[in-house]
Amino acid sequence: MWLTYLEYFSIAGTILRFQAAAEPVQQARLTSPDICCEVIQRAGIPNIYFPNDTTYPERVESYWSLTSQLTPRCFVLPRNTEEVSVLVKTLVKETQCQFAVRSGGHSSNAGANNIEDGLTIDLSLLNSTTYNPATGLASIGPGSRWLSVYRTLDPLGVGVPGGRLGAVGVGGLLTGGGCSLYLYRQGFACDSVHSFEVVLADGNIVTASSEQNSDLYKALKGGSNNFGIVTRFDMTTFRRTPIWSASLVHPESAGNAGQAHIAGIKKWIDDVENYQNSSAIVFWSYRPALKQTIIISGLADVSGTANPPILNDLLTIPGAISSTAKFTNMSDSASATQAEGYRNIWFSLTFKNDEKTLAKA
Ligand SMILES: Cc1cc2nc3c(=O)[nH]c(=O)nc-3n(C[C@H](O)[C@H](O)[C@H](O)COP(=O)(O)OP(=O)(O)OC[C@H]3O[C@@H](n4cnc5c(N)ncnc54)[C@H](O)[C@@H]3O)c2cc1C
Repeated sequence: MWLTYLEYFSIAGTILRFQAAAEPVQQARLTSPDICCEVIQRAGIPNIYFPNDTTYPERVESYWSLTSQLTPRCFVLPRNTEEVSVLVKTLVKETQCQFAVRSGGHSSNAGANNIEDGLTIDLSLLNSTTYNPATGLASIGPGSRWLSVYRTLDPLGVGVPGGRLGAVGVGGLLTGGGCSLYLYRQGFACDSVHSFEVVLADGNIVTASSEQNSDLYKALKGGSNNFGIVTRFDMTTFRRTPIWSASLVHPESAGNAGQAHIAGIKKWIDDVENYQNSSAIVFWSYRPALKQTIIISGLADVSGTANPPILNDLLTIPGAISSTAKFTNMSDSASATQAEGYRNIWFSLTFKNDEKTLAKA
């Protein structure tokens, strides 16, 4: 059944480029990028921003990394699912315009969430979070940032697995998989998606869940693919307990701090299968102001346990120049910021849990 969707969507990078409409094309479709935005305007879609509008530079600068700050012919900000449907239907039927889809704009890959010779569908206005106590589901708009999701759910005592930093967007993280503080207990964040509301290439609005369109449901869970534009995520929630969160900073030069961290990570990964509530992220970071490399450990436990034994080796490395630990909730935990406005490039690498490979990396 995947092929059914592949016929609708060509997977060209991460820019949605609809090539084969389901029904025969009645007339030549418009090809010049200049007309893309006009066609959308004529279809009655408001919130279209052109380079000479004051809102336009704000939209460009709202991307986290300079690498994604491209300049499309226009940004279109739909207000609801129906407008997304009209947009897609119009673009596919009447034009061959290329377009990009953006939720939180945190991906740094140029062309993933923005475009030069086309238009950008910016889902920032689809940013509500509501909770239904009867079903236990949280309905979340793709343009939401995780901080706003947590701020809505924290007071209700429920949680969903999502981004560790609050500024990250919902749409890209959930269609891409999603590593949260709850990763080992709950799986990828996309594993908690109960159903997706999706606009397909023909403009139809469908639900994808284990019951309806289950092939599309499976395909959307973490593939970063282009099978449609997700306009709502219904996520299964859990009762949230306080989160224990610790941060330690060591100069790499302090004693054998580098080797001790590598050994600590190796042991933690070996043990994680037996204790699934902890989380550890260790960064090696060169600080020009300090003229040295520092090692930052972000450690957490989501079961409400302070200093869980599984993290002991990382917690007891001598020579820390800073060390904090506290109980917190998701909103506070996600409130940390990460510098914006730089050129970023990200890679990930998966390898066997091995100290020698870690040391080389
Ligand atoms: C500072 C920082 C911290 C991060 N922390 C985490 C973390 O803790 N855990 C983690 O798992 N990841 C993390 N990430 C990575 C992050 O999840 C990805 O960059 C993700 O793509 C961001 O989501 P977004 O909505 O901002 O995506 P965008 O940049 O808006 O989009 C990313 C991709 O997804 C597509 N897309 C977006 N929305 C939709 C939609 N509704 N329907 C169809 N396709 C869509 C876009 O077309 C694009 O190709 C972090 C990134 C940064 C920069």
